[in-house]
Amino acid sequence: MTNALQNSPKLVEAEKYTSALYEQTVSRYPNESEFLNAVKEFLVAVTPVIADNAIYTEKGVLEQILEPERFIQFRVSWLDDSGNVKVNRGFRVQFNSAIGPYKGGLRFHPSVNASIVKFLGFEQIFKNALTGLPIGGGKGGSDFDPKGKSDNEIMKFCQSFMTELHKHIGPHTDIPAGDIGVGAREIGYMFGQYKRLATAFDSATLTGKGLSYGGSLARKEATGYGLVYFVEQMLASKKDTLKNKTVTVSGSGNVALYAIEKAQQCGAKVVACSDSSGYIYDENGLNLETLIQLKEVEYKRIDTYISKHPSAKFVAGGNIWTIPCDIALPCATQNELHAADAKLLVKNGVIAIAEGANMPTTADAVEILHENNVMFGPGKAANAGGVSVSALEMSQNSMRLSWTFEEVDMRLQDIMKHIYVSASTAAVKYGHEGNLVVGANISGFLKVADAMITHGLV
Ligand code: NDP
Repeated sequence: MTNALQNSPKLVEAEKYTSALYEQTVSRYPNESEFLNAVKEFLVAVTPVIADNAIYTEKGVLEQILEPERFIQFRVSWLDDSGNVKVNRGFRVQFNSAIGPYKGGLRFHPSVNASIVKFLGFEQIFKNALTGLPIGGGKGGSDFDPKGKSDNEIMKFCQSFMTELHKHIGPHTDIPAGDIGVGAREIGYMFGQYKRLATAFDSATLTGKGLSYGGSLARKEATGYGLVYFVEQMLASKKDTLKNKTVTVSGSGNVALYAIEKAQQCGAKVVACSDSSGYIYDENGLNLETLIQLKEVEYKRIDTYISKHPSAKFVAGGNIWTIPCDIALPCATQNELHAADAKLLVKNGVIAIAEGANMPTTADAVEILHENNVMFGPGKAANAGGVSVSALEMSQNSMRLSWTFEEVDMRLQDIMKHIYVSASTAAVKYGHEGNLVVGANISGFLKVADAMITHGLV
């Protein structure tokens, strides 16, 4: 908070107001713990802004921003390869369209429910605003588990899912993309079905598409690369670089693989990565080529890596955060780095943690990192590279042009730098220098809130 604001009656009033809003959200959605966590972090962060600017309270901006503009839930029925009927739940939250059409990925994972979709959609509002690009916040997915399904089953599920979802999306309405369990293959099947139902080639309705039908170069790499560009900014603020740093990366999906690639290109040694079965570790550094072959081409589990690199070990069910490192990049899923992990990482000398996944670090773990002066890059800012290049994919689709890899990558670097600067500047302005959680929330909120006010009560 600004110095004038510290301990002021205005701040006390604002705290009462945001606490009451949080309690109201709890009473409305008592079982949505992930969504409530995201709301709490946001409300705490923006309280000084509310104290300083009466207009946001007068116009009821927070009351509105906490409720999705639309929440869609639908049945997805499909037949497996043995002819059995399967029924899953599909979701799409269209959370906020103040600054542009809804934009956010689709997640296929058994854990997906209303709370997860709403937490991700809520985060997406501010992340998208931070990119400086004209995109609103949305998210969706299904409790469908792609693991162990045949290619034919994946196609049938995607077609059934899109048969319902297509009614709600479009290049000027809502533009989904991938997330956990949704990669190029699933986007391809969904785009095919969308095209058939829309009887139009609206390529800018989905992003993360294949390069042969409107995808953008560097989209696949964007979240992981963007994460590392963000880490470079964090380190540069301390006159440091990634060169010769030891890095651990959780997950081994899209975000993790390309974070590993860029970190290696920047001179770091990535010694470990994981999947939900455990982690692999090699003190000499991991071989990215093998990882990409196993995970992207052969869809294998991470333990198969050791047959190709006997110097590495696989620790079944192991906790990757027990490995000493300079920099930790959680890139798997929410709530995967807890307070005990944060304590251990601090003890082992970690200097920076940045989130490739969405909210992988629990609130108490973030507190420990801040108390110990560990630089922390929240996902809202640090993993915004993916959605940024998705928005660049939409621009290219609209212009019917394709930019080179270098051009997209250069824009991505600029965007990540801009995000870092706006989050760190907002943190300083509101008295929380170095706290990028506060800075990212405030910076994203201001842009959305000001647009909402100009649109009136809608
Ligand atoms: P992928 O499906 O490609 O990879 C996910 C990885 O995380 C896999 O290695 C998976 O292991 C692991 N994982 C998933 N759930 C769990 C779990 N419950 N416990 C342990 N490990 C788990 O997803 P992405 O790489 O696309 O996404 C990873 C994270 O990054 C998500 O939080 C996503 O929201 C976020 N993100 C993704 C963006 C993108 O562009 N793809 C953009 C911004 C954020 P296993 O295979 O064993 O499940």
